[in-house]
Amino acid sequence: MTVKNLIENNRGIIKERARQISWLEFAAMEEKEKIIFLNNSKTGNPFHVLFAQQFSRNSLNLLCQVADKARAIHKYRDEGRRFLKNLLFGTYALNFIIQPSTRTFLSFQTAQEILGMSIRDIRDPNTSSEAKGETLEDSVRTFSSYVDLMIMRHPDERAVEKGAWVLNKSDRRIPIINAGSGKDQHPTQALTDIYTLHKSFDGKIDSRTIVMCGDLQRGRTVRSLSYLMRNYQNMKLIFVSPFRLRMENDIKNFLDRHHIPYQEEDNLEKVISLADAIYMTRIQDEWDKGKEQGVQSVGPKYKFKKEYLNLMKEDAVLMHPLPKRHEIDEEIGYSNDKRVVFWRQERNGMWIRVALIAVIFQKEQKILKYTT
Ligand code: ASP
Repeated sequence: MTVKNLIENNRGIIKERARQISWLEFAAMEEKEKIIFLNNSKTGNPFHVLFAQQFSRNSLNLLCQVADKARAIHKYRDEGRRFLKNLLFGTYALNFIIQPSTRTFLSFQTAQEILGMSIRDIRDPNTSSEAKGETLEDSVRTFSSYVDLMIMRHPDERAVEKGAWVLNKSDRRIPIINAGSGKDQHPTQALTDIYTLHKSFDGKIDSRTIVMCGDLQRGRTVRSLSYLMRNYQNMKLIFVSPFRLRMENDIKNFLDRHHIPYQEEDNLEKVISLADAIYMTRIQDEWDKGKEQGVQSVGPKYKFKKEYLNLMKEDAVLMHPLPKRHEIDEEIGYSNDKRVVFWRQERNGMWIRVALIAVIFQKEQKILKYTT
């Protein structure tokens, strides 16, 4: 048997197995086993995007490269824009985003338009048949009858995974992308953050110290970003949070397993001068309940004050997935300090999503080969 036959055969087996697997079996699998059913077996890049652990250094480098190139093509006025629009002309995307969202929604929608997709959205679950008692599985299967790509933000941490499982069983196996799964993960925000580090540090992300500050327990962005650290060398994380909002053990265990050093602190001011990137987060008080009520009032030790800009290294960056509230002094967003990158981070989020969709649909070589 030739290697080609072997790979093809293997692909057939994976496809067949994906059709047979029960939800309970799939849900109980370890992440590395699940990835076999989520990534494209030919390219190794994600097909369904559920969690950050699916990304290798190669796939992250590729995404950053494609995002840079797509940006340059788009600047090439009408001709470049038309080229990008033709890449996915005639395909359809559904943005099923039923939790509040500004940046993720707008950046996905604009990315899809840049690539020429036609767009549908469902943002209020009361307007879809789930409100009539349809199961999530049936809803997802139904959506796939009309579109070629599905983006999903859902309060239930397992919903998007269930979506991928259903789609793997169906004869309309369209890709599904996690745009925020409860408190668990937000992989495309983590891609946005990596792309922002890539742009801020001229492609050199290794050997950086990243401070993450705020609600590390319920913030899905810091969880996904921590997972991506595995792909870089000599990274160091400093977690700054109130005691009851500390990073969960599953992430700390992951970091231990991959020999990524981290320390836990409770005073932001103390660690600013050590950081190459300071990643501020909002207290996720939408998840407050019962005796947790009140955690929304962050103490001054977890706020980035204007004078802290003086403590930052000259080439460090201040990031935030946004929306921000009082955890960053308001004036900072409108200061001209080049190290304040959260507005650029928003725009990077759109370009990395262009790259992600292009890679899922295997259009990356066309983008990379385009000459402006
Ligand atoms: N926009 C980010 C998220 O959806 C961060 C946040 O809401 O605080 O997780």
